[in-house]
Amino acid sequence: MAVPDRQKLAINQATTMKQWSLQEAIEGYAARDIRGISVWRNKLAECGVTEAATILSDHGMDVTGLCRGGLFPANDDAGRQAALDDNRRAVDEAAVIGAECLVMVCGGLPDGSKDMIDARKQVADGLAEMLPYAIDAGVPVAIEPLHPMTAADRACVNTLEHALDLCDTLGEGTGVAVDCYHVWWDPKLEQQIARAGDRILGFHVCDWLVPTIDLVWDRGMMGDGVIDIPRIRGWVEAAGYRGYNEVEIFSEHNWWKLDPVKVIDTCIERYDQFV
Ligand code: ZN
Repeated sequence: MAVPDRQKLAINQATTMKQWSLQEAIEGYAARDIRGISVWRNKLAECGVTEAATILSDHGMDVTGLCRGGLFPANDDAGRQAALDDNRRAVDEAAVIGAECLVMVCGGLPDGSKDMIDARKQVADGLAEMLPYAIDAGVPVAIEPLHPMTAADRACVNTLEHALDLCDTLGEGTGVAVDCYHVWWDPKLEQQIARAGDRILGFHVCDWLVPTIDLVWDRGMMGDGVIDIPRIRGWVEAAGYRGYNEVEIFSEHNWWKLDPVKVIDTCIERYDQFV
């Protein structure tokens, strides 16, 4: 693989979540000539949505995604309705900041449930119900399959194949986010990325550490683990993807404890070699 285009480096705000506010992240990334950012709703709320839109555009930032919508399954109608209402608010926020997509973490089993089949049905139903609102707002919905170890508590959509089956059913306005951390192990990955084609709305990179000490909060910096990111990027680009390569690192034990400037400099250094 040729080295990745430096202009296509984006940072997911989660990478400096513990150190920087949204404004600080925008300024810090822009200072290193990074022009893409994915924004988290809790940080967006702290900043104020319209204020954030101004700061983003003042710094010439492309918003690769808003994290996150989804979390559909619930035990009762009130819970399901609350999830739908929250998804509509997320769509509104994504529209105001010009996010290229709303990233969906679909949700796992409701409290006390063992019914994975029903949880997956609730996800499909929830997506179908919120989709017209997203289409009206011009916000593409990016279904992100999550690693199967998170099926109970985060997302019961666990493979790219399952995410694309949902896209096939839902149609216009939907696509997928391909996050290396969640899908690198999948024997059908190459085939399903090819199937996705122009429905790839985001490409997220980081590394899988061996051993890993936490399934969610111990993501590695590119180059520190076992994921062949350039190979996966090659598949994504062969499918027609021309968007940003977005670094997304949740790291309770390491990167979140370091000087964020150093974290971003490391992302840039590693990008050429390991993305
Ligand atoms: Zn991701």
